[in-house]
Amino acid sequence: MTNETWGLVREELIKRVGKNNYVTWIEPLKFSDLNNGVVRFEVPTSFFGDWVSRNFSDHIRAQLNTAGQQVERVEFSVGNRSTPPEPMRAATAPARAKPAARPSDTDEMPGAPLDARFTFDSFVVGKPNELAHAAARRVAEGGPVTFNPLFLYGGVGLGKTHLMHAIAHELQTRQPHLRVLYLSAEQFMYRFVQALRERQIMDFKELFRSVDVLMVDDVQFIAGKDSTQEEFFHTFNALVDQNKQIVISADRAPGEIKDLEDRIKSRLQCGLVVDLHPTDYELRLGILQQKVELYRSQYKGLVIADGVLEFLAHRITTNVRVLEGALTRLFAFASLVGREITLELAQDCLADILRASDRKLTIEEIQRKVAEHYNIRLSDMIGPKRVRTIARPRQIAMYLAKQLTPRSLPEIGRRFGGRDHTTIMHGVRKIEELMATDSQLNDDLQMLRRQLQG
Ligand code: ADP
Ligand code: MG
Repeated sequence: MTNETWGLVREELIKRVGKNNYVTWIEPLKFSDLNNGVVRFEVPTSFFGDWVSRNFSDHIRAQLNTAGQQVERVEFSVGNRSTPPEPMRAATAPARAKPAARPSDTDEMPGAPLDARFTFDSFVVGKPNELAHAAARRVAEGGPVTFNPLFLYGGVGLGKTHLMHAIAHELQTRQPHLRVLYLSAEQFMYRFVQALRERQIMDFKELFRSVDVLMVDDVQFIAGKDSTQEEFFHTFNALVDQNKQIVISADRAPGEIKDLEDRIKSRLQCGLVVDLHPTDYELRLGILQQKVELYRSQYKGLVIADGVLEFLAHRITTNVRVLEGALTRLFAFASLVGREITLELAQDCLADILRASDRKLTIEEIQRKVAEHYNIRLSDMIGPKRVRTIARPRQIAMYLAKQLTPRSLPEIGRRFGGRDHTTIMHGVRKIEELMATDSQLNDDLQMLRRQLQG
């Protein structure tokens, strides 16, 4: 296998391990060689090798095999030193890596490392996330437990993990004596299975029941995994009974997680359930501005033209991770070529991201929005009524459908109750004509367009 092949396989691992894990644990791996089914990587420290070995070697092996490489074992070495072979490590204490944020603690906690960048300071608050933020802040104060659990949910890249790490950081600063345990639901399962295999289930139970704050990220992962759910339920109850704080995240509301036991669902709903809404323009702009401040010291002298951040906030609406990635690439590219970051440069450099984020607006959405705006029924959009108060909004919707979607006139006609394409063309022309003189219409169109394009 060549370095290049590894590079490609590595990319695929993002899907398996998630972006954060990927950046922290997979990217730093240096491929050394692949011989007789054993693939070797160089790692910066033995702790690092240990962690990757415990958490990701199965993924790495599976992904390499998928790519046609015959791999049976994954090994890590620090410089020239190898980590002990698999059987030896299995015989030692079960997976007790120290979380990065508790370096001075002698008690070993099996948590996942915390990302030092994910703090409250670096979290930008806006309308879509203000409730989640406030709740997280409250928990981070470490006062008496008022709601248990705190359940944070929302789509990918909206800041759930960031908020959880922020809570952990804050608690560790304010109340260093607290035993705070953060891990993903996947890691919870992994540890549980490992404890079963090594007949150390009592240790496992004791460990999880002795924490002061338990945080489990992406809990939807345990849906459908019966014995893990069972164990999670017992851990959960034991901690709630002791009045210990629990923080959970998921990609959807408790009631909407399929294949999750009802008793767990209802337990999860008992506390405070808050969602992170999709970002809005202001929040995205705020996040970009904050990032630019951070980059200023790293990329001294780099100029960013007016309007570039606004453009990005407007166009990249999918998730914050993509938004951040876009900005990072832009800065790296601009500093490489030694140019000012202009709108043009951004469009060139980010063409792929911009294309992927183009919202696929449907004709139905346009009809609904226009009907709402003019206070007419959606059914009238496609119905036969010809009175002006209905016909005009209908033509506006036709015009917007032509402008904002790639649909052809006959396709649009079909979605307007099977009208002929000439009718659509007539409607579009009519609006274009009116636009030349009707400023109210222009205002309406501008607003509708803005709302539809997010
Ligand atoms: P999730 O866990 O919800 O998928 P993350 O917490 O991993 O999302 O967030 C993805 C990225 O976006 C992270 O780099 C995070 O720091 C950033 N991010 C998300 N929301 C915000 C915010 N409100 N302010 C600053 N950064 C944010
Ligand atoms: Mg996350």
